[in-house]
Amino acid sequence: MREQLLSLLQLQTFDVKVRELDTAAKQLPAKLDPLRRDLAKLQGMLDIERAKLGETETWRKSQQEMIDRDREQLKAAQSKLQQSKNSKEFGAASREVENKRKSISDREAELKKVSESLAQSKSQLDSRDADVQKLRDELAAGEASMKDQVDSLNAQLAEAKTARDAARANVETKWVKTYDTLAAKRGYAVAPVIKGVCQGCHMALPPQLNNILARMESIETCPRCGRLVYRKEFLEPPTETP
Ligand SMILES: [Zn+2]
Repeated sequence: MREQLLSLLQLQTFDVKVRELDTAAKQLPAKLDPLRRDLAKLQGMLDIERAKLGETETWRKSQQEMIDRDREQLKAAQSKLQQSKNSKEFGAASREVENKRKSISDREAELKKVSESLAQSKSQLDSRDADVQKLRDELAAGEASMKDQVDSLNAQLAEAKTARDAARANVETKWVKTYDTLAAKRGYAVAPVIKGVCQGCHMALPPQLNNILARMESIETCPRCGRLVYRKEFLEPPTETP
C-alpha cells in the first residue's frame, strides 16, 4: 500500500508539473501581443499617411502638367500678340497673355506651397518609418528569444509527460480510475493529512480513521472531500538537513 500511495503521489506531482509547463508554454507567446498590437496600429497609421502623400503627389503632377499647358498657351498668345494686325487683335491677344501669366503664377505659388509641405511630410514619414522598423526589430528579437524559451519549456514538458506516464503505469488500474475522477472533480486527488487534518479540505478526520491511516494497510478517502489521504509523516519523512 505504501508503494501504491507513493506512486499515486508521484503521479500527482508529475501531473501538476505537466499542467504548469503546458500552461506556461501556451501563455508565453501571448506576452508579445501588446508589442504586436502597437506595431500593427503604427503601421496602419503610416499606411494611411503614405496613401495621402501619394494623392498629394498625384495632384502636384497634374498641377505641373497644367502649368506646362499654360506655358504652351502663353507662347501661342505671345506669337498672336506679335502678329496682331489691328488694335482689336492686339487687345485680345494681350488680355490672353495677361490671363495666362496670372494663371501660371497662381498655379506656381500653389505648387510651391504644396511641394514644401510634401517634402516636410516625407521626411516625417521617413523618421516614423525608422521608428516602426525599430519596433519590428524588437519584436523579431523578442520572438527569437521566446522561441528558445518555448522550445525549452516544451522539452521539459515532454520529459514531465514521460515521467508522469511511468508513474501512472505503477498505479493499479482501479486507483488510476479513482485518481482520474477525483482529479477532474477536485483539481487534485491525493491529499496529505497533517495532525489529523485533511489538507485537501481542512477537515479534522475521525480519530479512528487517522489510526487506520497510520497502519498503511489500505488506501482511504477523506469523508468530506473524498480525496485519497495519507499521513504525511509516514510517507514523506522530514528530510534531514546535513
Ligand atoms: Zn478532505
